[in-house]
Amino acid sequence: APFIEFRDVWLAYNDELLARGQFAVEAIDLQVPRGAFIAIVGPSGCGKSTFMKLATGLKPPSRGSIWVDGQRVSGPLKISGMAFQAPSLLPWRTTLDNVLLPLEIVEPYRSQFRQRRAEFEARALKLLQSVGLGGYERKYPWELSGGMQQRASICRALIHEPQMLLLDEPFGALDAFTREELWCTLRDLWQAQRFNVILVTHDLREAVFLADTVYCMSKSPGRFIVRRDIPLPRP
Ligand code: ADP
Ligand code: ADP
Repeated sequence: APFIEFRDVWLAYNDELLARGQFAVEAIDLQVPRGAFIAIVGPSGCGKSTFMKLATGLKPPSRGSIWVDGQRVSGPLKISGMAFQAPSLLPWRTTLDNVLLPLEIVEPYRSQFRQRRAEFEARALKLLQSVGLGGYERKYPWELSGGMQQRASICRALIHEPQMLLLDEPFGALDAFTREELWCTLRDLWQAQRFNVILVTHDLREAVFLADTVYCMSKSPGRFIVRRDIPLPRP
């Protein structure tokens, strides 16, 4: 069985748009196996962010259904971690405390946070080390470079060991060198842990470098996802 499945999913942002038949995404059918790394590419406005909101349960579809791990999605998914274009670390928290944040919010960690704090901190430090941020855990976001903040955001998205990592243009604001360094870091983490990744990007090269399968989202005539088997230039 697929880990993530979209069955004929349509979304109109409100009733008026629905009545006019104006959908942000149309007729999405998608099946993603467990542990896969997929990328979704497409022009601005084709529905990539909308797709992400649907995949995380932040938006219910107007028609059709979305299934994750055999369950119909009916609200925000706890098993997902997210990172976006802007790092969005909380400025009043250290890097370590930013990375720990999901564990303070998401059950079952939330209720165990006090008792397991030392263990959780050790986990966060290990993750920070794996992205080259060992030694920066006590720094505040403004003391880090943009690339370092983005790396910390990715650690925050992974700290609660989500089965699904959703990345919406997470490398867009970075310079080319930092970006490629982060690609390698992410690919190493994924190869070691095999969580599902959905990456939304404008950058076809990034999509091909990182993902198993690249889907192109088209804007017209219908907004559906087409599977493209692009040969992967892996080292
Ligand atoms: P992308 O992420 O690929 O740029 P979006 O998912 O943001 O595309 O947008 C898909 C379509 O939905 C666009 O036509 C956009 O104008 C429309 N849209 C996005 N957000 C909203 C919203 N909150 N209300 C109404 N329409 C929206
Ligand atoms: P980035 O491309 O990561 O945004 P910068 O050019 O700002 O990079 O920084 C390059 C490197 O310099 C970083 O990866 C880091 O090792 C170091 N560095 C940058 N800013 C700081 C800082 N505020 N404190 C400590 N080291 C830093």
